[in-house]
Amino acid sequence: MPKTTLSSKTSSSAKTTSTSRRPFRVGRAKTGLGLFATKLIRKGSFIVRYIGRMLPNRIADELDTKYLFEVNARWTVDGSNRKNIARYVNHSCRPNAEADVKKRKILITAIKTINPGDEITYNYGRDYFNAFIKDHGCRCAACHQKKSVVRSKHKGRKKRKGSKRPKH
Ligand SMILES: [Zn+2]
Repeated sequence: MPKTTLSSKTSSSAKTTSTSRRPFRVGRAKTGLGLFATKLIRKGSFIVRYIGRMLPNRIADELDTKYLFEVNARWTVDGSNRKNIARYVNHSCRPNAEADVKKRKILITAIKTINPGDEITYNYGRDYFNAFIKDHGCRCAACHQKKSVVRSKHKGRKKRKGSKRPKH
């Protein structure tokens, strides 16, 4: 009798399904964790929603968390839950995304074309910057670059024209 030692390995072909249809993943950034594009994200396209408990501002003001997003004069979203993937989006002074509030929903949208591997960032705004970033210095890519330029060209500083923003 012939032995049937045929392994059934051929049937268990490696799965190459992507675990997520989201165009991003959480990864290691300069300042801890960050959100990185895994696919091309076109300018103007929606990326992720910043979700969490909706709290009256006076309650939110008492909380000891950095993950608060004020949506208007009365309401704040507490985004500290880990399910809120948008909380991993780091601040940048020259961001490639922005957070817009539409009917108390916080939507993060690309303002530039974002390539796979790029970190997704938005500008947290002046209040957050002054409260949490200013003291230890901003570590975003734009500020990092600025610092190294200042270091290498401490002489003959040229005045830059106003910030370039592509019109559309
Ligand atoms: Zn910065």
